[in-house]
Amino acid sequence: MLANLQPLEAVLDAAGIVTEPAAMAPYLSDWRGRRHGRAQAILRPRTVEEVSAIMRWATHTGTPIVPQGGNTGLSGGATPDAAGDAVVLSLGRLNSIRSVDALGDTLVAEAGCILADVQRAATDADRLFPLSLGSEGSCQIGGIVATNAGGVNVIRYGTVRDLVLGLEFVTADGVIIRGLKPLRKDNAGYALRDMLIGSEGTLGIVTAAAFKLFARPRASTTALCGFANPVAALQVLQRLRSVAGERISSFELMCDAEMGLTLALMPATSLPLQSRQPWYGFVEIADSDPQADVERIMTEVLGTALEDGVLEDAVIAASDAQAKAIWTIRLAVAEANRLAGPSVSHDTSVATADVPVMIEAVERATARRFPIARPLFVGHIGDGNIHVTLLFPTTAIPDAAAFAATAAAVNACVFEIVMELGGSITAEHGIGHSLVGALAKAAQPEALDLMRRVKQAFDPLGILNPGAILRA
Ligand SMILES: Cc1cc2nc3c(=O)[nH]c(=O)nc-3n(C[C@H](O)[C@H](O)[C@H](O)COP(=O)(O)OP(=O)(O)OC[C@H]3O[C@@H](n4cnc5c(N)ncnc54)[C@H](O)[C@@H]3O)c2cc1C
Repeated sequence: MLANLQPLEAVLDAAGIVTEPAAMAPYLSDWRGRRHGRAQAILRPRTVEEVSAIMRWATHTGTPIVPQGGNTGLSGGATPDAAGDAVVLSLGRLNSIRSVDALGDTLVAEAGCILADVQRAATDADRLFPLSLGSEGSCQIGGIVATNAGGVNVIRYGTVRDLVLGLEFVTADGVIIRGLKPLRKDNAGYALRDMLIGSEGTLGIVTAAAFKLFARPRASTTALCGFANPVAALQVLQRLRSVAGERISSFELMCDAEMGLTLALMPATSLPLQSRQPWYGFVEIADSDPQADVERIMTEVLGTALEDGVLEDAVIAASDAQAKAIWTIRLAVAEANRLAGPSVSHDTSVATADVPVMIEAVERATARRFPIARPLFVGHIGDGNIHVTLLFPTTAIPDAAAFAATAAAVNACVFEIVMELGGSITAEHGIGHSLVGALAKAAQPEALDLMRRVKQAFDPLGILNPGAILRA
């Protein structure tokens, strides 16, 4: 039964309740265009008090609430199901940067702030907010917190969980939990903040977060490397680590098939190396000391690796523009994969040293079981997080049913390898709706049971993003 939206008219302004089908459409499909849902309305609050009133109304009426930020998530978690009784709670208008404290190195931003705007606010205060993702121009603070996002700088700064100091959130029944304290140390009871991070809208509505800031890098150097195989990439990473330590802010891996696809489909990309290589590494070393000779470190380590035959080729960016051009290739991959045709992608992680074994096992198993598909590998090798994509010819996956069957078979194949290596089925994108069945298989039953009891404690009526992470 559909709930009466009328009480909300007293809470939200005219732009806060969207029911016109064309205006609702962009909120009802995911970024990849794989999941399509229906909803009674899109609600667009401007304040935390409005969010609280919406949740009180949802509890009163038993209405399912699907929180949504920039809608760039890659697990389908921000899209409602087909029943049509849910409302999408879009946080985009709750978008103030409440404070930037350059002395204490903290920033407080509301859920609807775009990640790139938060990065800029930190830069304007001469500080660094280090989270960086391909979707940073549209993903929002609530979304990155709710998915515990990672990106290209995790090797140095960690995931969102490592960056959040405090959270403000609204519970299923509308209580505002004011936990925005920007404290570096706080052992007062259970860390509710950490329960909310990565909970994908199933435990509460994130309305604001207090983050750590860092010193801005004033000397940096970027290189694109060519490797014969992923083992060589890990060896070069280790050599760089021995000299540069934690100044390595990114070390990303990409296979040649992924490189070819990205160069072909993304207009602003070109390969700065002399020739194509089997594997590529995107490397950045940065230091907050402007005098730090990071370029010398990069040149010496890569030069020795070339002489030793560990590295096939490399280019070190000679200008900011060249560094940007190298990163443009890496950040364009998700869009290139989306344009390339039907694909099944994964966000697996294994222990860093096991990445080459995992890649080889996946190559072997998928060549045997899905010979018409092209395997693509890209990811954050320094974190052991590799995105495996199997690209199929369009004719092989004509409709949604064929896609679902293929995805289930590919997932089973890839996850078996990852689980045997003691890895995870998702490193940074989350479970959403796409991996609910896979989580049920992969998780220890007792751990899954504990997760269900946590969900029950936070959301006894089951109105918060039903069906995401755990079966409703
Ligand atoms: C081109 C591209 C590149 C990407 N690269 C990376 C990457 O490198 N690393 C990475 O980790 N991810 C990456 N992603 C995935 C995605 O951008 C991130 O997961 C991002 O964190 C999602 O933010 P969003 O605001 O778009 O969230 P949405 O997609 O709107 O929502 C994601 C989930 O969070 C929940 N949610 C959203 N807002 C709230 C809130 N305020 N309170 C409670 N729950 C909420 C939703 O219900 C949903 O379950 C990429 C995506 C794209 C399209």
